[in-house]
Amino acid sequence: MPGLPPIDVHAHIAPDIDERQLRDLRSAVFAVTRDPSEWALAAERRDELCVWGLGCHPLVEAAVSGFDGARLAGLIGALPLIGEIGLDGTSKVPMVDQRRVFRQALELARDHSRLASIHSVRASSAVLDELEAVTGVSGAILHWWRGDASQTDRAVELGCFFSLNGAEALRPEVIARLPRDRVLTETDYPHTRRVDKAASRPGAVTTIERALGETWDVAANAVRTQVWRNLATVCAATATSRLMPRALQSALLAAR
Ligand SMILES: [Zn+2]
Repeated sequence: MPGLPPIDVHAHIAPDIDERQLRDLRSAVFAVTRDPSEWALAAERRDELCVWGLGCHPLVEAAVSGFDGARLAGLIGALPLIGEIGLDGTSKVPMVDQRRVFRQALELARDHSRLASIHSVRASSAVLDELEAVTGVSGAILHWWRGDASQTDRAVELGCFFSLNGAEALRPEVIARLPRDRVLTETDYPHTRRVDKAASRPGAVTTIERALGETWDVAANAVRTQVWRNLATVCAATATSRLMPRALQSALLAAR
């Protein structure tokens, strides 16, 4: 299957970026936002290969205090992705507030059958507890997962997908533990640049693709195809395939 573009399901991009700059990435990019102040711009965009997520980052105090579930519900109609959401054990925002907002966002992801890109720094178990409490979230994508072996097994049992980046390529034992059909790729641009020099722009997933190829013992194009197939699976499990840009829909159909 030649010609499938790289997949980056978690990158930070300013929602006022010029559309040509996005097109030049030649990658399928899921751009997440951190703060409700970005939602209006993100929700209006119609890009050829880029999908926008509406998020509320647990490290951003103003985002958590300004979260409005009803507003998110109103804007999510045309968008396939809620993110970045989650919990962070290092955040100054009280965990009780983080959990209240995260739970509401997960309930919206479940009720609207959307994908959710989830942050879990120093909060792996707490994130899984919330996913267990809000039963029926079928589009949970754990981004930059740092859980230990038993937490990882629990996440797999809960049906989570995992988006891996070049920093995680340094932990092949984690990659080896994940079922191949649950793995997606990401850059978390610009946050992985320190450890992964190749991740110099959104969509630059070569480091993690190479690591996956080594662990799975397959060629690079087979990794890319597998990741597209996995994306097709999670989009089919949610109601999101039809909300993808047309070029992305064609690639998802070809990959299944
Ligand atoms: Zn992020």
